[in-house]
Amino acid sequence: MDDLRELYQTMILDHHKRPRNYGPLPEADHEADGHNPLCGDKLHVALQLSDDGVIEDVRFEGQGCAISRASASLMTEAVKGRPEAEARKLFERFHAMVTSPKSEPADTSELGKLAVFAGVREFPARVKCATLAWHTLTAALEGGGRTVKTE
Ligand code: ZN
Repeated sequence: MDDLRELYQTMILDHHKRPRNYGPLPEADHEADGHNPLCGDKLHVALQLSDDGVIEDVRFEGQGCAISRASASLMTEAVKGRPEAEARKLFERFHAMVTSPKSEPADTSELGKLAVFAGVREFPARVKCATLAWHTLTAALEGGGRTVKTE
């Protein structure tokens, strides 16, 4: 677990400082805003879906804590190029992992780099920071144009 914790900190700092897929997406056809009032995180997620439902491009913008930004950055990397249905499944697995009891080993199968967020189980108040990007992604896929709140 110590290795995972170290990796968690390194990865979060890296993605916080140099977020991937950050900025506007003028060609976006789906977008949504997300707000986590508990922490003050605000994210905007924009995507471009192909006719057959593949996330061809995705970007985010916003302000918030390191965890919310790092999670958004890693989320965009994880879902880019995937069919919408796979992205939703990934969120289910991710959500199940971050909300599982920390006394049990985290189920990180198929999560790739997202496995580092098993570390947020140590800080339950941060779970909403880690899932905000995913809730916002889901809202964007569902039509967008509205603000989702984690509350
Ligand atoms: Zn936060």
